[in-house]
Amino acid sequence: MLFSDITVLDEQFCCQPHQYVATKDSKIVYIGKEKPEGDFGECYDGHNRLLMSGLVNAHSHAAMTLLRGYAENLPLDRWLNERVFPFEDKIQNEDAYYSTMLAVAEMLRTGTTSFTDMYFFSEHVIKAVGESGIKCNFSRAITSFSDCDISGIPSFQESESLVKTYHNAFDGRLKIDMSLHAEYTNRRTVMEQFAESVKAHNLRAHVHLSETEKEHEECKQRHGGLTPTELFQACGVFDVPTTAAHCVWVTERDMDILKEKDVTVATNPASNLKLGSGVCNTAALLGKGVNVALGTDSVASNNNLDMFREMYLCALLPKGFHRRPDIVSERDVLKMATQNGYSAQGRTDCGTVKVGNRADLIVVDLDTVHMCPHNDTVNNLVYAASGEDVLLTMVDGKVLYKDGTYTTIDIEKVKREVELRTKRIQNEVNGNA
Ligand SMILES: [Zn+2]
Repeated sequence: MLFSDITVLDEQFCCQPHQYVATKDSKIVYIGKEKPEGDFGECYDGHNRLLMSGLVNAHSHAAMTLLRGYAENLPLDRWLNERVFPFEDKIQNEDAYYSTMLAVAEMLRTGTTSFTDMYFFSEHVIKAVGESGIKCNFSRAITSFSDCDISGIPSFQESESLVKTYHNAFDGRLKIDMSLHAEYTNRRTVMEQFAESVKAHNLRAHVHLSETEKEHEECKQRHGGLTPTELFQACGVFDVPTTAAHCVWVTERDMDILKEKDVTVATNPASNLKLGSGVCNTAALLGKGVNVALGTDSVASNNNLDMFREMYLCALLPKGFHRRPDIVSERDVLKMATQNGYSAQGRTDCGTVKVGNRADLIVVDLDTVHMCPHNDTVNNLVYAASGEDVLLTMVDGKVLYKDGTYTTIDIEKVKREVELRTKRIQNEVNGNA
């Protein structure tokens, strides 16, 4: 595709107006003021439009879209035990496929080109990733409630088999990570064996970490005063590239460990606010040089997957929290939502509009009421834009969404199926089936 007369958000998050950008196969092959020679297929008129890297949702449970609006106004433990687990208990394979597809459609619609997901129903999530064309680092959450040998745990066996079958599948769009669900859902011996296995296979890890005060404090009681971060470090979990979701209650010392071990913190501001978990101190983490990425968590605790809304919250929260409006900048937040997320996924050739990089690109409409006037387009992107302003989403050079149309998803069928399946599950949960 050849984008003409388009404003480009460059690697430093500065706007370069009136550019030509050409993609060929999966790559960006040209950026410049002059029209390039050659045939790049469709020409896209970029007047009043901005081209930027696609966004990375660094922590999600996509298949949980079935639970949108289903569980509200509860703290995490009651939210899980009273609402989420009984519902999840009734989810069947095809349900997970359609709900993941709905999540992917929402992500593509709102500018997300890659997501880091942790769930079960692995084959059905993977099927939706394969068919839709989006990128994903998927991991099957491992839980253990006794000090057993990890090789006997079904979720670990499944993880190993996913790695064998699907790691780097769909031309590398899908990567399989290993996931330790959390400290409170695992035993120490299993954490140690998990770390050894991930290291041996040269994979990446995905965990929940210090999401709530309860989790953080109970871990200290269970493990001789060690915080979840200190415990994971002691078990070797952080010896591999790790994405740690939430990190709301991490201490100053925990933050130093996260920096030293090069752990990515995936912050989820909406979910943490909604479940009353607290506010992640992203300013302190950024100040220590930690790689901070941005995620939505599932729609059950958000209730949307729009990364523009997440960027807005992520930019505002530290200002109010520290009473310092200058503490986190718009560029910090854009970097968290793009480069930092891709880097956490181990995708080094994505995240910036640069020649040679993968063409994971989105086009944002600059010609809307709320984007006018253009005193500073970068400020508008973070504080005024929404995912609805995305006009086109491209992954590896392929257009997956454009002007209301999906090229790989039958969206009306997906919506219909999700409605029907949600009703069936609700009936089963209420004992009416
Ligand atoms: Zn989560």
